[in-house]
Amino acid sequence: MNIHEHQAKELLRRYQVAVPDGQACFTVDEAVAAAKRLEFPCVVKAQIHAGGRGKAGGVKVVRDAGEAGEAARALLGKTLVTHQTGPQGRVVRRLLVERACRIARELYLGLVVDRTTGRVTVMASTEGGVEIEEVAARTPEKILRETIDPAIGLAPYQARRIAFGLGLGKEQVGKAVGFMAGLARCFVESDCSLVEINPLVVTQDGGLLALDAKIGFDDNGLFRHPELRELRDPSEEDPREQEAAKHELSYIALDGNIGCMVNGAGLAMATMDIVKAAGGMPANFLDVGGGASAEKVAAAFRILLSDAAVQAIFINIFGGILRCDVLAEGVVQAAREVRLSIPLIVRMEGTNVDDGKAILARSGLDIITASDMLDGARKAVAAAGRRS
Ligand code: GDP
Ligand code: MN
Repeated sequence: MNIHEHQAKELLRRYQVAVPDGQACFTVDEAVAAAKRLEFPCVVKAQIHAGGRGKAGGVKVVRDAGEAGEAARALLGKTLVTHQTGPQGRVVRRLLVERACRIARELYLGLVVDRTTGRVTVMASTEGGVEIEEVAARTPEKILRETIDPAIGLAPYQARRIAFGLGLGKEQVGKAVGFMAGLARCFVESDCSLVEINPLVVTQDGGLLALDAKIGFDDNGLFRHPELRELRDPSEEDPREQEAAKHELSYIALDGNIGCMVNGAGLAMATMDIVKAAGGMPANFLDVGGGASAEKVAAAFRILLSDAAVQAIFINIFGGILRCDVLAEGVVQAAREVRLSIPLIVRMEGTNVDDGKAILARSGLDIITASDMLDGARKAVAAAGRRS
């Protein structure tokens, strides 16, 4: 689960991490009042679950109440398209009004779970304000790393090594060590999957400040943090992913045009790979799971069909605990309800496969059958290509 910048900053403040004074606002009047209280100049920032707002016009520095009102009016209700939102963009429903600061340097500081070591790793770079992926690709030597030992936590010498690596002056090293210690504690205590400060700024008067903050939580740890769960903003989440969560389906929306319905996470990933190898792009990851009922399969099928980008559906099932006949019943049920109008490619093997195939054949649905995974992927890519 991701949260907004203003929520991330509130959480960080509790860990003594320095953030600018600010207030979340939902209306123009609120924004103007907040700006007056904070004193000018202020920054009015669009709150969406995506970065790249600066370049897209979602961050505005204002000098008086008039400008604050203008900025708030321009942003609230607007669809902001950044390089992270995709072409459809995100509607801005709230703002963060902050006291502006005078920037001397923009740095990068991030904490992630490193899957190679299985530990939380601090990443830092002098290249703040730039996406870390870009830095990693172009100048990997500019990324400093420290792996945190879970039994000890972030050791002061590690934080100092990063601070010196970032070229911070004597007066800032102590601040930076405290700053990083707060981030590291927040990460572990809140079961985060990502804490990213980009940029971390050195102000002209020598202070250190988290100018931006992005926090993601590990969903599997959220049950331990009911107060964090309250921060969820459903309007920022993919409606199909929400619908899938209701039916306990593992579904992740992607950018392609081939809807995939698969059982088992491993087979689902292999299916996505083989679709890509056949020259196509999957529209989703979907694992309907082991013991799915016909109703659950039908719900999954409806979710796939509700995506306007989907030009073909590839069902790739290995019936084990999920029987092929149950799967077929679910597909037929959903296809009748929504009147299927795109090609359906089915590859099925395993328990009750003959019953499953018979149900599909009897349904009158126009089905392209596949002999194996690769055959199915190729047929799906060809069918989707013909339509788009
Ligand atoms: P993002 O583009 O979505 O990552 O949004 P950020 O919060 O990182 O803001 C983008 C940029 O706006 C920053 O890199 C800064 O250059 C600029 N910015 C944000 N707040 C301030 C501020 O208080 N003063 C000044 N001068 N610039 C700011
Ligand atoms: Mn940023």
